[in-house]
Amino acid sequence: MKNIGFIGIGIMGKPMVLNLLKAGFSVFVLEKSGRSQEVHEAGAHVCSSVKQLVESVEIVISMLPDSPEVEAVLFGSEGIMQDLKAGQVFIDMSTISPLVAQKIHAELAKLNVEALDAPVSGGQVGAEAATLSIMVGGSANAFAQALPIFQAMGKNIVHIGEAGAGQITKACNQMIVGMTIQAVSEAFTLAHEAGVDLVKMREVLLGGFAQSRILDLHGQRIIDRNFKPGFKIKLHQKDLNIALATGKAFQVDLSGTAQVADQMNKAIAMGNGELDHSSLVVVIEKEKK
Ligand code: NAD
Repeated sequence: MKNIGFIGIGIMGKPMVLNLLKAGFSVFVLEKSGRSQEVHEAGAHVCSSVKQLVESVEIVISMLPDSPEVEAVLFGSEGIMQDLKAGQVFIDMSTISPLVAQKIHAELAKLNVEALDAPVSGGQVGAEAATLSIMVGGSANAFAQALPIFQAMGKNIVHIGEAGAGQITKACNQMIVGMTIQAVSEAFTLAHEAGVDLVKMREVLLGGFAQSRILDLHGQRIIDRNFKPGFKIKLHQKDLNIALATGKAFQVDLSGTAQVADQMNKAIAMGNGELDHSSLVVVIEKEKK
């Protein structure tokens, strides 16, 4: 079984590491990572330096907030680029710009290191249950090597195409999720103002054509006023900005996405960036005339 280095042990990274350990992989993490002690107790090896981590493994996985962090981990002054060796595989599972994913692929190819962009969907719940959807860009050879690793963390694993294809797919996912949250939020705000029982409305709509995981899970969150993340508004705003920049690059008008991104900007301006993305409803409630 391959040894895996894992960088970025946050809301998603921690349960992903725990599932890799459960599946029998040896996992190496960085000492400076806030949750290294927690995963160490579950069996992860703790490395004092990036060099030690990269030397100990065949595969390096990153699960970081955004493109700048992934670029810093690779190309920064203490970046892993200096220590990666031919034959190793780098898998970025964060949600970042498809253009940056393609740049990483090209730079690592110069070292004969394969790169995969493998962003995920399914949230913290999917990460904990090892049921993530994983959308992968990169070579078929690298995908075949990584598949048993993905299977320890996810269920619906698809090799979409060449480098960047995974991140394009993820941007599309975030557009659909964001616009659906906006739809559910507007509908719930209208129903509440009109005196309709939200519990009953959610129940009946879940049996019809408006059924969705967003209506189910986020609808319940809105009813409960439970905006503890989950998936933070500031991360979803980041993803919509990635989608908008990609739309611009391909000259596709994404006006619905732009509108939701604008609502997320307002949520962040209200100080709600750390709340779950279902809290978008608060912006709509505040804006009602
Ligand atoms: P998070 O903020 O909880 O975790 C990010 C981790 O990266 C933190 O532990 C942070 O300390 C670490 N980090 C940041 N910079 C670093 C660096 N330079 N070196 C080493 N570690 C560094 O975020 P998250 O919710 O786990 O999300 C991670 C990625 O997964 C994001 O791209 C996000 O968009 C994506 N994602 C999140 C969810 C979700 O529901 N939370 C769902 C799907 C995808």
